[in-house]
Amino acid sequence: MAIKDEQQPLHILFFPFLAPGHLIPIADMAALFASRGIRCTILTTPVNAAVIRSAVDRANDSFRGSNGGLVIDLFVVPFPDVGLPPGFESGTALTSQEDRDKFFLAVRLLREPFDRFLSEHRVDAVVADSFFKWAADAAAEQGVPRLAFLGTSVFARSCTNSMLCYNPVESTPDDPDAVVSLPGLPHRFEFRRSQMMDPKKRPEHWELFQSINAADQRSFGEVFNSFNELEPDYVEHYRTTLGRRTWLVGPVALANKDAAARGASELSPDADGYLRWLDAKPHGSVVYVSFGTLSSFSPAEMRELARGLDLSGKNFVWVINGADADASEWMPEGFADLISPHGEQGLTIQGWAPQVLILNHPAVGGFVTHCGWNSTLEAVTAGVPMVTWPRYADQFYNEKLITEVLKVGVGVGSVDFASKLENRRVIIGGEVVAEAIGRVMGDGEEGEAIRKKATELGVKARGALEKGGSSYDDVGRLMDELMARRTSVDV
Ligand code: UDP
Repeated sequence: MAIKDEQQPLHILFFPFLAPGHLIPIADMAALFASRGIRCTILTTPVNAAVIRSAVDRANDSFRGSNGGLVIDLFVVPFPDVGLPPGFESGTALTSQEDRDKFFLAVRLLREPFDRFLSEHRVDAVVADSFFKWAADAAAEQGVPRLAFLGTSVFARSCTNSMLCYNPVESTPDDPDAVVSLPGLPHRFEFRRSQMMDPKKRPEHWELFQSINAADQRSFGEVFNSFNELEPDYVEHYRTTLGRRTWLVGPVALANKDAAARGASELSPDADGYLRWLDAKPHGSVVYVSFGTLSSFSPAEMRELARGLDLSGKNFVWVINGADADASEWMPEGFADLISPHGEQGLTIQGWAPQVLILNHPAVGGFVTHCGWNSTLEAVTAGVPMVTWPRYADQFYNEKLITEVLKVGVGVGSVDFASKLENRRVIIGGEVVAEAIGRVMGDGEEGEAIRKKATELGVKARGALEKGGSSYDDVGRLMDELMARRTSVDV
């Protein structure tokens, strides 16, 4: 009989996909698990390690293990040489299909350091991103339970599962405006065909998601950055109807002790200035506008968005992606006069914004978002209502959750599922953007109801991670299962 070691803390290996929207919640989750006494290791490549290093350092300062050692360890491996220029290690750096193909080759080659780590170190589980679909079998070969993490909502995973099982797009007329609904879900939702991933047009994506879904089901279970009270019908559906073992452990951003530097390789020297600008604005008067790390807007879309912000009459903070930054191509006449330092109505941020700090500032009363799951949950947690402007991936599903299930936002009417490498049919007009902002932030009954719901949901979100809260208990349940498994394997 092997020596039992229940006294040793659990050790979990985290293996996030190489994009900020995956790295950031994994670093937060590691901080959360470390706060419960779990030893955590994050395996990633140098450029990606830099994105989360300050969050990891800060977590280590806060929760240093009783023996004084690190509780979260960054295990950095070289990015595979696939012919990409030095530093191109992240989904954010990809601007062509050729680079994308090379990047996904590198992703496959990361299996080698992953296998090596597992054969040389003893861990109780791996939290490996769903995009590393081979991780389920690689972990199983080493006898290690694999927990899948895709960084989205249970709602979106339920929608994707329905898509993959029933392929409703196939039987829908080939008209972008044709209505598609997803069978087998607790509620009926209508999408336009143009808002869905079309399996015929993207056979490689369809195949990727089929194999991801299958690999996740072969895994020990799935962890979600979400909380039960946010999407209870879908948690029930996912667990009971679909029979998928899940633990909801979010909102993980609450575990981060260094919101200013979160996701940035270094603290933005301007962060204080942004917050001071907000300090001078009335409560709930500012709309925050940001579309995450992977979305790009055409000059025509930028122009309409700028017009919309102007027409809304609201104060605004707009995070402008580097790729969208050539103002001469999009800036409407007079807009520069609205923005600091020339004007008082708006602030533009070019570069990394301290998003969580901004969303939690009392001056912020609305968030125009692409519905990336991290941004969505950060807004929910801060109690901020949303104006939804999905672009692709899981974002159209998250929009439905926000606007139709939770009723904490309204949409601008985005209809085109298109990545930053693709064109879209419809440009959303400035008047439409202004109207949506007004519905969420204005004086009308609709805005009041939306804001009330958002505030209530924020309270529930923060409660989920408190002792006795649903996510606090799910982390405990997971720890118990892993500890019980360790004991049974050792005996
Ligand atoms: N983020 C940030 N500052 C920025 C841009 C993004 O802090 O200037 C963070 C944001 O808070 C969120 C993540 O980056 O945690 C983006 O993830 P999300 O899922 O919202 O979108 P993605 O970038 O994956 O599309």
